[in-house]
Amino acid sequence: MEMFGQNVFNQSVMRDRLPKSVFKNLKKTIDEGLPLDPSIADVVASAMKEWAVERGATHFTHWFQPMTGITAEKHDSFISPADGGALLEFSGKELVKGEPDASSFPSGGLRATFEARGYTAWDCTSPAFLREEADVVTLCIPTAFCSYTGEALDKKVPLLRSMEALSTQAVRVLKLFGNTSVTRVTSTVGAEQEYFLVDKSFYLQRPDLMMAGRTLFGAMSSKGQEMEDHYFGSIKERVLAYMKEVNEELWKLGVSAKTQHNEVAPGQFEIAPIFENTNIATDHNQMVMEVLKRVALRHDMVCLLHEKPFAGVNGSGKHNNWSMSSNDGQNLLEPGRTPHENAQFLTFLMATIKAVDTYAGLLRCSCANAGNEYRLGANEAPPAIISVFLGEQLADIIDQIVAGKAKSSEMSGHMDIGVSTLPSLPKDATDRNRTSPFAFTGNKFEFRMLGSSFSISGPNIIINTIIAQALKEFADVLEKSTNFDADLDKLLQDTAKKHQRVIFNGNNYSDEWVQEAAKRGLPNIPSTPDALKELISKEAQEVFAAHNVFSDKELHARYEIMVEQYVKTLNIEALTMIDMANHSIIPTAIEYATTVAASVSAVTAVSSKLDVSTQKELLEELSDKLAAMSANTKALEKALEEANGIADADKQAAAFRANVFTKMLELRATGDALEKIIAAKYWPLPTYREMLFVL
Ligand code: ADP
Ligand code: MG
Repeated sequence: MEMFGQNVFNQSVMRDRLPKSVFKNLKKTIDEGLPLDPSIADVVASAMKEWAVERGATHFTHWFQPMTGITAEKHDSFISPADGGALLEFSGKELVKGEPDASSFPSGGLRATFEARGYTAWDCTSPAFLREEADVVTLCIPTAFCSYTGEALDKKVPLLRSMEALSTQAVRVLKLFGNTSVTRVTSTVGAEQEYFLVDKSFYLQRPDLMMAGRTLFGAMSSKGQEMEDHYFGSIKERVLAYMKEVNEELWKLGVSAKTQHNEVAPGQFEIAPIFENTNIATDHNQMVMEVLKRVALRHDMVCLLHEKPFAGVNGSGKHNNWSMSSNDGQNLLEPGRTPHENAQFLTFLMATIKAVDTYAGLLRCSCANAGNEYRLGANEAPPAIISVFLGEQLADIIDQIVAGKAKSSEMSGHMDIGVSTLPSLPKDATDRNRTSPFAFTGNKFEFRMLGSSFSISGPNIIINTIIAQALKEFADVLEKSTNFDADLDKLLQDTAKKHQRVIFNGNNYSDEWVQEAAKRGLPNIPSTPDALKELISKEAQEVFAAHNVFSDKELHARYEIMVEQYVKTLNIEALTMIDMANHSIIPTAIEYATTVAASVSAVTAVSSKLDVSTQKELLEELSDKLAAMSANTKALEKALEEANGIADADKQAAAFRANVFTKMLELRATGDALEKIIAAKYWPLPTYREMLFVL
C-alpha cells in the first residue's frame, strides 16, 4: 500500500501540498472538465517541483504522445542561474506550455517546416509522475501536443475531445430517463497487454528482431503451442522475478497492475490492470509498455511487443475492455434490476450495437497496422469482420424486442458442477466467446482486435465518437417525444431490426461465418491499406466533424501518417530480409554446400566404391534451394525497387501489400527450407527452439 502511487503527484499529494483554494479549483477542472484557471499554475508548478526535488528529480519533461504511437519527451533541468549560483525553478508558464521543436515528428503535412514549433499543453486530468531510471529521477508531466494553428499532432487531444463528445451525448440520454444529477459520463478502459520475452543474447544475434521486432525468417521448432501447456502454466522463476519488478515499478507509478499469466504461445505472457478513465488508462498503457521493455533489459531479456514476432504460434494482441460511467456512480452497461433500469441499460447497449454496425469499417481501421495484418483473420485473433457477441440471454432479449416487446429474460440460473463439496456457481449470463471481436462480457464490451504494440488511443477515439453519434441520434428523437415509453420502445425496436445483423454468437474463426457475414452484408477487410481508407470515408469525416474530434485536415493528416508507417514498416522488413539473405543465409548455404561437395571428393578419393549418395542428394537439395533463395531475394529486391518508385502514396501502399508482402513470404519459405537442411553448427541465427523455449 505504501508503494502504490508513491511516484505520482496525485490528488492526495496535491491536497497535502496545495493551498485549499488552489486544490479545490484544480479538482473542479479535473473532475468536472471545467477550463483550467491559469492563475493557479504558478502555485501548482512550485508544489510539483518541491515534491519532485525532494525525491531526487533534477529535470522535468513534458511527456506526450506524438503520432508515432509511442511517447516522446525532452528533458529540461530545474536549474536557473542566480547571482553566480543557481536556483531550482519551475514556473507555471513552464508547467502549462512547452514549445518543443517538433519538426521531426510525423505531422502528415499539418506543420510546414518553416513553422516547426509544436506546443505541448499540460493535461491536468492525468497526474504527473516521477520516472526513476538508473539513478536519474525525472518529473514527467502528461501533455497534449498541437501545432501552431491548433491542430492536434498527438493521440491525446482527439481522445479528450472524443471523451467530451461521449459525455455530452450520454448525459442527454440520461436526462431523458429522468436523471437530473448526472453532469458527466466518462468512458472507462482496462487494457490487457500481451507480450513475448526472449533472451537478450538471441535478440542481439537476430537482425530481424533488432530491426523489425519480429522474426522474418525462422523454421518452426518441432514443438509449438499444440500441447496447450503454456497457457496459465506455472510461471518460471526468471520470468516471475521480472514480473515482480515490473509490478513494483508500475505500482509506484500508480498503475494498478493486477493480473499476470503465461499466454498461449511459449515465451508469451500477459499483464492486465484494473480499469480507469480512458485518458489515464491510455497514459498508463504507454507506461506499461515502456516498463515492460525497460525492466526486461535488466534481466537480460528483451520484451517484444510486436503483433506477430514468431510465425506458427500465436501473436500478441491487446484486449480493450470498454464501458461508460456516470459521475453519479453508474456503469451504463451494467444490466439493471428494475424495468426502468433495464430500459436505460438496453438503450445504451443498443446504441453500442448501432454504432458498431454502422461504423464497422472504422473499427476495423482502428486496428490496422503492418503487424496486426498477420493476426486478424488468422485463426488466433478475431477475423477482419466486425461482429458483436451478446450471449444467449441478451440475444434472446433483442429477438423479443424485434418481435414486439421484451417480456421475459432467459434466466441465467446456477451451474451444477457435479461435485457436492464445491459451491454451485451462478452461471455467467454472458458465456465467454473468445473468438468475437466485440464481445459483451457482463458489464462492459471487450474489443479484441487491437495489436499489442498499439497506443489504445486510436481505437478508443473511434469507439467514443461512434457511440456518441448513436446516442445523439437517440436523444434527437426522444427529446421531441411526448410519450417517452412508447417512443423508446419503437426506437429500440427499429434499431434492433436494422442492426441485428451485426450480432453473432457463434465461432468467428469458422469459414461458415465468413460466408454468412458476406450474406449479411458485413464488411470484411483483410488488407491494411484497404482498412486505412475507412478513416477518410465520407461517413468517417462526417461523424468526426459532427463531434469536433477531427477536422477533415486532421483526419487526412492521420491517414497519410498511417499509410506512410505501413509502407515504411514493410520497407524496413524487406531490406532486413534482403540483408539477412545476402549476408548470412546465402553465404552459409554456400559454405555448407562446399563442405558437402568436399566430402564427396574426399570420400571418393579414398575409394570410388564408397557410397556418397547421401552427400550427393543433400548437395542437390542444397543447390536447388540455394538457387531458389537467390532468385527470391532478387525478386524481392525488384518488387521493393518498383514499389519505392511509385509516387502516389495510396498506390504505393497497395503495391507494397500486393507485391512486397507476397515476395517476402516467398523468400521466407526458401530461407526456412534451407534452415531445415543445413547442419546446426553452420546455421548463423538462433533458432525458434532456442528463442521460444530457453526462458
Ligand atoms: P479476461 O482475461 O477474462 O478478459 P480480465 O479479468 O483479465 O478478463 O480482464 C478484464 C478487464 O476488464 C480488466 O482490466 C478489468 O479492469 C476491466 N474492466 C472491468 N470492468 C470494467 C469497466 N466497467 N470498464 C472498463 N473495463 C473494465
Ligand atoms: Mg480478455
